[in-house]
Amino acid sequence: MSVIQRLLIANRGEIACRVIATCRRLGIESVAVYSDADRDARHVRLADRAEYIGPAPAAESYLNVAAVLKAAAQSGADAIHPGYGFLSENAGFADAVGKAGLIFVGPPADAVRAMGSKSASKKLMEKAGVPLVPGYFGAKQDFQTLSKAADDIGYPVLVKASAGGGGKGMRVVTAKDDLKDAVDGAKREAKASFGDDQLMIEKYLDRARHVEIQIFADSFGDVVHLFERDCSLQRRHQKVIEEAPAPGMTVHLRNAMGQAAVDAARAVGYVGAGTVEFMLDGDAFYFIEMNTRLQVEHPVTELIAGVDLVEWQLRVAAGAPLPMAQDDLVIDGHAFEARLYAEDPDKGYLPQTGTLQHLVFPDRVGVRIDTGVEAGDRVSVHYDPMIAKVIVHGPDRQQALASLRHALADTRVVGLPTNLDFLIGICDSKPFQRAKIDTRWLDRLKAPKAGWRRQRAATPADLASAAHFEISARGVKACERAARSEDSHSPWFRTDGWRMIDRGHQDVHLADTLAPDAAHLVSATARRHGGFDLVIDGVPFDASTEGLRVLGDDAGFLHVFSDEGRAVLSLIDPAADDEDDARAAGGLTAPMPGKVTAVYVKAGDAVKRGTALLMLEAMKMEHTITAPADGTVAEVRFKPGDQVDEGAALVVFDA
Ligand code: ADP
Repeated sequence: MSVIQRLLIANRGEIACRVIATCRRLGIESVAVYSDADRDARHVRLADRAEYIGPAPAAESYLNVAAVLKAAAQSGADAIHPGYGFLSENAGFADAVGKAGLIFVGPPADAVRAMGSKSASKKLMEKAGVPLVPGYFGAKQDFQTLSKAADDIGYPVLVKASAGGGGKGMRVVTAKDDLKDAVDGAKREAKASFGDDQLMIEKYLDRARHVEIQIFADSFGDVVHLFERDCSLQRRHQKVIEEAPAPGMTVHLRNAMGQAAVDAARAVGYVGAGTVEFMLDGDAFYFIEMNTRLQVEHPVTELIAGVDLVEWQLRVAAGAPLPMAQDDLVIDGHAFEARLYAEDPDKGYLPQTGTLQHLVFPDRVGVRIDTGVEAGDRVSVHYDPMIAKVIVHGPDRQQALASLRHALADTRVVGLPTNLDFLIGICDSKPFQRAKIDTRWLDRLKAPKAGWRRQRAATPADLASAAHFEISARGVKACERAARSEDSHSPWFRTDGWRMIDRGHQDVHLADTLAPDAAHLVSATARRHGGFDLVIDGVPFDASTEGLRVLGDDAGFLHVFSDEGRAVLSLIDPAADDEDDARAAGGLTAPMPGKVTAVYVKAGDAVKRGTALLMLEAMKMEHTITAPADGTVAEVRFKPGDQVDEGAALVVFDA
C-alpha cells in the first residue's frame, strides 16, 4: 500500500474546497490548480499550494490534460483527485495520470470507459441482469431508425445524448410530429457539450422518482453500497434538492436496489466511489446510468452514514481495503442538500453573473455549507453558477426539512439574483413536505412559483432600519472625506445633523422597489444623548426594529432582511432629475455572453409572438430567443457559430 502525501485537485469551486478539507484533516498536503479567472478563488486560498494552468475558458485550463499533468509534476504531487465534472469521467485522463506514475483517485480507466457511454453501459447492464428502461440504444442514428424505435417504444419518449450529463442534450417528446425537432436540438446540444452527438431513445416515465445508490469498491473485489439518495426534486432534469434516505423506502426495496447497484459495479470491475442511478416507478426500478466519480450530492450520504467519502476515496486509491463492511453500515437520521445557484428561476433559470457583495450563511450545529466562494468573489460566466450547497441533518425527515428551511431563511445573498426564495418555497410546499413528488413535479408547477418570491412590501420598521443604515453610511463617507481634506475637524464634514443652534435633523428619501412610485420620507432628529427621533411620512415612529438586518449593495439598494423575507428599498435623491425614463427598450439582446448555435429566421420574415428566432448557447445550455410580439424581422445580426457579448443586439425587430 502506498501513501498519498501530496494531492493535486484537478478542479475548482466547492468540490475543490471539499477535498482540501479532508486533506487537511488527514495531514495530506493539498495542491490547487487555477485559471486566470480563479487567481484569488477560495480553493486557491485554502490549498497548501497552487499551480497556474491557463486561461479562463475551461477547455484551456481545467480540461487541459497536459497542463494539469505539468502542474502535478511541478508541485511534486503523488496523486490527483478529479472532483466531479471537468476531467473526472475522462478515461484518457485516468490513463495519462497512471502513465505519469501518479495515483488517480477514481476508478480504473476501463470502468470509466465502460460507463462513459449511456448506450454502451445499458447493454452491459442488460447482460448483468440489471433492469433497464425500455429503449433503443443502438449505433444506427439515421432519423428513420430513431423514429421507428420511438414508435415501437410508444410515446412519450425521451431523446437522450449517449454521452450526456447534467440534463444536457435531453428532450421529452410527447407526439411523433415533434420528434424531428427534438432529435436535431439534442444532437446540436450534445455535439456542443460533449463533442459526440450519438442519441438514444427511452420510454419516458412521467411520474417516476430518481433514486440512486452510492456504491464503493476496493481493489480486493469488495463492494458495498451506502444506501440511496432521492434526487426527484428536479427542474428540467437537473437536481435541485436531494435527500437521504428516500422517503417511503422499504428494507426490501433498498436491498434489491443496493444489490443491483453492487452487481453493476462488479460487472465493470469497479474500484472507488460510484453512483448507480435508477428511475423508480412504484416498486419497479430501472437503471439509467452510472456515474464513475463522486457526486455533487454525496454529502447527504455522508451525513446519514457517518462517513467521509473523500477519505474513503483516498484510502482505496492508495490500495487500502474498504474501511467498513456492508453489515457495519447503518442509517442515522435524515439529510437534505439544497443547491444555491446564481440563477433566475423566473427567467427559465437563466444563470446570473456578478459579484457576491454580501454572502452570509448560518453557523449552526446540524448545518453544513459546502461552498467555493465568499463575499466579494465573482460568479463568472466561465463556470458553473452554483454558489453553495446548504446541507442539513436531523433525526427524521420532518425535522431535517424544518432545519433546511431555517438554514435557507438565514442565508443572505446580495449582489445578484439567486434561487434562494425558490428553494424556500419548495420547503414550504405541501407536496414536497409530504414527499408526494416525482421528477416532473417542479416543471408541471406553474402558478405557485411566483408566490415563492420572498420580497415583501416595506413596513415602517423597514423604512426606519434603512434610514438608520443610510445615516450611518453618510457619517462614514463624511469621515472619509474629512480624512482626505486639509481641515479634518471642520464641522462642515459632519452629517449627524449637528447644528449650532437647532437640534440637527436629516431627511432620507426611500422607495419600496415593489411600489417605486410612492416615495417615503424618513425625518431623523438627533437626540441629545444619542440616537434619533424618527418621523415617517409625517407619523412619529417608535416601534421596534429588532430582528431586522440591513445590507446595502453597489447599485444603491438597501436590503432589509427578516424572518419573513426581505424588503428592498431604493434611495431617492430628491435633487436629481427624473433619470432617463426612456431607457432603451429591452429588445432582442443576448442575456449573457455565448455562441449563436442556430438562426431560424431571416430579414423580412413575418413572425408571431413567441416564435423562436435564434438559439444561443451559453454556459453549455441552450437559450431560445423568441419574438416579443407579432411583427417582422428587420435584420439578423449574427450567424451560427458567432460569439456574442452580453447585451449584443441579436435581431432587429419591428413589432
Ligand atoms: P444526465 O446524465 O444528463 O443527468 P440522466 O440519464 O442521469 O441524465 O437523467 C437525468 C434525469 O432525467 C433523471 O433524473 C430523470 O429526471 C430524467 N430521466 C432520465 N431518464 C428518464 C426516463 N427514461 N424517464 C423519465 N425521466 C428520465
